[in-house]
Amino acid sequence: MKKRYAMAMDTRRCVGCNACVIACKTENALHTGGFRDWIVQEVSGTFPSLQMEIRSERCNHCSDAPCVGACPTGASHVAEGGVVMVNKQKCTGCKACIASCAYGARYVHEDGFVDKCTFCLHRVQKGKQPACVETCPTRSLTFGDLADPESPVTRLVRTRRFKVLQPETGNEPNLYFLS
Ligand code: SF4
Ligand code: SF4
Ligand code: SF4
Repeated sequence: MKKRYAMAMDTRRCVGCNACVIACKTENALHTGGFRDWIVQEVSGTFPSLQMEIRSERCNHCSDAPCVGACPTGASHVAEGGVVMVNKQKCTGCKACIASCAYGARYVHEDGFVDKCTFCLHRVQKGKQPACVETCPTRSLTFGDLADPESPVTRLVRTRRFKVLQPETGNEPNLYFLS
């Protein structure tokens, strides 16, 4: 069966320590201003009944990814498991993909091409977990194949309440935020 890689992010476990952000920067040798993942802290409710949700966000590897269609050179493409990738050799840095992404998931690398999360496909293809998933001290992040009913990510999505960000885009994100 065709693989469909996805990630579940448990907002109840995340403490916002940024270990996932540092792990990603180290693993992918990102320059000082470059980030493939980031932390969002969102406060809701009315004082004194306030709630804070902490999310580790990155590219959603959307099943219907507008960034791929927007790319005039074919640099943005869908790879194994539905992972959305950028071929930096083909990227001209025109930023059409950045304009098409509602999630702010892409940025311009200092070498001129556009960069974003790859779900660490280079590690996954060797049977390893993405660097952020492996590093998270609270095990907030779970990566796997949604086409496999036994995958931990499939079990989480089956048994827990979750949301995706901006479902109204119709982009079918593959990053699930558990609550
Ligand atoms: Fe949250 Fe884990 Fe990232 Fe820390 S490493 S910010 S706990 S997801
Ligand atoms: Fe493309 Fe943005 Fe979706 Fe990632 S989150 S696949 S960059 S539209
Ligand atoms: Fe970075 Fe890899 Fe995690 Fe994506 S999956 S945010 S590239 S460490």
